[in-house]
Amino acid sequence: MNKSDCIFCKIANKEIPADLFLETEEIVAFNDINPQAPVHILVVPKKHYENLNEADEKTLLKLLLVVKEVAAKAGITDGYRTIINTGKKAGQDVPHLHLHVLAGRLFNWPPG
Ligand code: AMP
Ligand code: ZN
Repeated sequence: MNKSDCIFCKIANKEIPADLFLETEEIVAFNDINPQAPVHILVVPKKHYENLNEADEKTLLKLLLVVKEVAAKAGITDGYRTIINTGKKAGQDVPHLHLHVLAGRLFNWPPG
């Protein structure tokens, strides 16, 4: 996919609106449009990486630190699940790296 057609690039560039939860210089976090739990926030680098395999170490560390910040800001005290889908077979629909932060209900293990 061309970066100019990428929905998460457009959200990061404020070309299309999102329900923004938190923002840093390099990362945006916003509510998922189709939440799978009472809390479902996406943590997204502003720079376009197609998936986890494309991203550098520093970016990955920053993303995880923002996940913790999001969990704290959302007031999650009873656990949360972080998911990164890599590739279509794993359920990745949007080809721009993003981390799902889900909370507020019980999650099964192993996942389906
Ligand atoms: P994935 O299947 O891992 O690629 O996850 C993509 C996620 O992005 C899904 O949970 C969608 O509901 C969510 N999503 C797609 N478009 C938007 C949007 N415009 N704003 C917020 N979330 C979105
Ligand atoms: Zn993108």
